[in-house]
Amino acid sequence: MKVGILGAGQLARMIALAGYPLGVEFIVLDPSADACATLLCEHLHGDYSDADLLAQLAERADVVTYEFENVPAEVAEFLAAHTTVHPAPKALAVAQDRLIEKNFLQNLGIPTPIYAAIDSLEALEHAMLTIGWPAILKSRTQGYDGKGQSVLKSPADLAPAWELLQGVAAIVEAFVPFNREISIIAVRNVSGAMVFYPVSENLHHDGILRVSSCCEADPMQQQAEAYVTKLAEALDYVGVLALELFEVEGTLLANEFAPRVHNSGHWTIEGAETSQFENHVRAIIDLPLGSTAPVGFAAMVNFIGGVPTTDQLLAIPDAHVHLYGKAPRKGRKVAHVTVRSKTAEQLTANVSALVRLAEQADDS
Ligand code: AMP
Repeated sequence: MKVGILGAGQLARMIALAGYPLGVEFIVLDPSADACATLLCEHLHGDYSDADLLAQLAERADVVTYEFENVPAEVAEFLAAHTTVHPAPKALAVAQDRLIEKNFLQNLGIPTPIYAAIDSLEALEHAMLTIGWPAILKSRTQGYDGKGQSVLKSPADLAPAWELLQGVAAIVEAFVPFNREISIIAVRNVSGAMVFYPVSENLHHDGILRVSSCCEADPMQQQAEAYVTKLAEALDYVGVLALELFEVEGTLLANEFAPRVHNSGHWTIEGAETSQFENHVRAIIDLPLGSTAPVGFAAMVNFIGGVPTTDQLLAIPDAHVHLYGKAPRKGRKVAHVTVRSKTAEQLTANVSALVRLAEQADDS
């Protein structure tokens, strides 16, 4: 069994690391010569729109998946015409445009922050009459980790924020005074059976995920599962699906979804019976799904732009280190560390120590 992956970053690498013990081989397509999964996988080196490479991938892979959603939807459609693609290209098409995504969620009855489509400064000024302050302007496409986003606090912010987008279509949405950011990671197999991980509570640093903690028996679990189930069923989804949510006074608003394995689920490698990566592989090649039950108390800390020495990291009790082998660059995720502890108190202490190290190493 050979799985093809569009993209060869750390997510592809962790999918491959989870799949090899199941006897699965991997072939990745990525324009970057030194993308970090290429050490582990056969690499088709070139652009995502290279017709020859896509044809090779379709021919050689029994099933194709992706590690990020900004692959052109036509590429996934081309592949789907020649081989099995999971999740289906529709999930990609919806997830990569914030307006289509929010409309899709709303149509399913999954609440989101109030939003409006923006294609001019006039449209933005007009929309602000109903959206209210503060708000957040986001490019419709190519946005991730807070890129292409501006917070709007007063009318004086509108023109500069619109200018920053350089005419790119956008959405404006109400800035939600959330109590927490959480995400739910679900896995759906070919016959439609689903399993869910405990929700993760997520803390960000400069718009980039810093800490994700596993929340067993979270009061929001059931609601989050109901929303992600609706979404997965509407997309006839196969694989791992992550839905990011804001919790506001005991209710949930959907921010966005990722049609792939997700950074907020990295703790599942050591912190769950079966990791999100292994369950993604199992789902797309139609093997039985594994238990999502947590193992101890777990959380993950991201290292962004720089990473301390492995010695320093491993000096923290219960730390499990994942270096991605990527050259450090400002704002780039280069490693994560999962801590899995026997008690909640131990976990908190270890995570605090790791966050201190991460803050010292950031963009160093
Ligand atoms: P996104 O790229 O949409 O995931 O946004 C990155 C981060 O910006 C989110 O994880 C939130 O911390 C923050 N954010 C995005 N949209 C909103 C919103 N409507 N209200 C409050 N914070 C937001």
